[in-house]
Amino acid sequence: MRAAVFHGPGDIRVEEVDKPEIEEPTDAIVRVTHTAVCGSDLWFYRGESDRDAGTGVGHEPMGIVEEVGEDVRSVEPGDRVLAPFAISCGSCEFCRKGLHTSCENRDSWGGANGGGQGEYVRSTHADGTLVRVPDRYADDEEVLESLLPLTDVMGTGHHAARSAGVEAGADAVVVGDGAVGLCGVAAARRLGAERIVAVGHHEDRLDIAEEFGATHTVAERGEAAVDAVLDITNGGANHVLECVGAASAMETAVEVARPGGTVGYVGVPHGMEGGLDLFPFFGDNVALRGGVAPVRAYAEDLMADVLQGTLDPSPIFTETVGLDGVPEGYRMMDEREAVKVLVKPWE
Ligand SMILES: [Zn+2]
Ligand SMILES: [Zn+2]
Repeated sequence: MRAAVFHGPGDIRVEEVDKPEIEEPTDAIVRVTHTAVCGSDLWFYRGESDRDAGTGVGHEPMGIVEEVGEDVRSVEPGDRVLAPFAISCGSCEFCRKGLHTSCENRDSWGGANGGGQGEYVRSTHADGTLVRVPDRYADDEEVLESLLPLTDVMGTGHHAARSAGVEAGADAVVVGDGAVGLCGVAAARRLGAERIVAVGHHEDRLDIAEEFGATHTVAERGEAAVDAVLDITNGGANHVLECVGAASAMETAVEVARPGGTVGYVGVPHGMEGGLDLFPFFGDNVALRGGVAPVRAYAEDLMADVLQGTLDPSPIFTETVGLDGVPEGYRMMDEREAVKVLVKPWE
């Protein structure tokens, strides 16, 4: 089969690789019809995190089940499915408490599973991992593109909103205008936030934030951004979603939190080797919650909203490519020409 393979920073190639096969009775093979390039892929693409050369990449697969192992019960060949960025068993202590990213049988899409940016992928623990799309929507292209973000960024934005404690009538600030930040805006609106301030650096992305429900946008940087948010919120918001992961974004997040408020963070921490400064949290009793998002826990709820037409994160896909376009997709995201790139491996 053909799949995208990482060869080093800035070097993604589409190559012929071994097609994954059923190895355990709990495995399923999925023919990938839709997948995406992720902001988190840029960390290894830029050489800012380590990854072994020669490994398959991608972690946001949607497709059609081709084959299942003999113990798989929840899906069968022909089903349209999507899958979260982390494989989970669905039955261990942590999966049962909704913390699927800490699954005792956790697995990833890369390596021998084929990677999520290729023609086929193996899902280990298929019953716990794969989410079936109801048959009546299984070939509805518009719906499928709206569901694809549930594999990662929409669930992650939702986790930021949940972690920040967003509730009906609340004030929320979303730091970051990448795909996760934009989905955080949609999630905050979905949870009933009344005033939603989106903080970012790109006018075109802040336009999407408005489309997703932001009532205010702030494009300033640094202290000017903090001042603008404090002005809009009369001294800070009780609920702040940190959707970047850079130290500067965490600083902004705590500075725009109202005393006694909560920062929900989902950005992969970067540039914090010197440690996180806790004094701003300490001084105003600001709580810090969140972490890597257990998006499997949220898939059914978010899917219900997409299917009933009240949630549509698909505008984050500003470019679509075939498999051969994956290297160009990385480049476009790296150079911020695209918010997020949709990949259709068979087109
Ligand atoms: Zn991702
Ligand atoms: Zn588990």
